[in-house]
Amino acid sequence: MKKDFRQAGQRYLFGDFMIFLDMDGVIADFDTHVDAHNQRLENGRPNYDAFDREWYATIPVFKGADSFSTLKMLAPVKFLTAPTRSADCYAGKADWIMNQFLPKEGKWALKDLIISPKQDKCLLAGAKRILIDDSPQNIAQWEDAGGIGILHEGDFQKTFEALCEAIECVRNHDWGFDAGRYKSPMPKGWKI
Ligand SMILES: [Mg+2]
Repeated sequence: MKKDFRQAGQRYLFGDFMIFLDMDGVIADFDTHVDAHNQRLENGRPNYDAFDREWYATIPVFKGADSFSTLKMLAPVKFLTAPTRSADCYAGKADWIMNQFLPKEGKWALKDLIISPKQDKCLLAGAKRILIDDSPQNIAQWEDAGGIGILHEGDFQKTFEALCEAIECVRNHDWGFDAGRYKSPMPKGWKI
């Protein structure tokens, strides 16, 4: 007997989409944490060498970031975060997602944590794959790789609206939509 896949994706409103959520600068207030610990070099850049596991684990959650829990109703959400070249950073990010952001989920939160070098985030891009990130460069690379990019500029409501707009646009195949930051997820030259 053939398998019945008709219920696949029914847990989500738009289960055929996938959302990738950057952490630092989107839900984790990295810059405030750097300044609170007075850890900038003379050129203003964060002193990454000074950060240990505890430091990464205790970055404050952005006020309002918990509103992003609603994203999980729309589509599966993965956390996609770039590490520094430090094992403490990898471990501290795992601590952060379990203890700071999703304490109720505990270790099960780790199943949605993807730690990827910045330049490799775009390897996960594709049609109906949405990246929410505060880095214009990451967004550009993601879009060039065929994904949908939403640049987060600090306003959760605005980002959420852009996300809904992008989903609606793709679902309606309304290729006339162009806010200057959103490109068709379809390969170049593909016609519908
Ligand atoms: Mg970021």
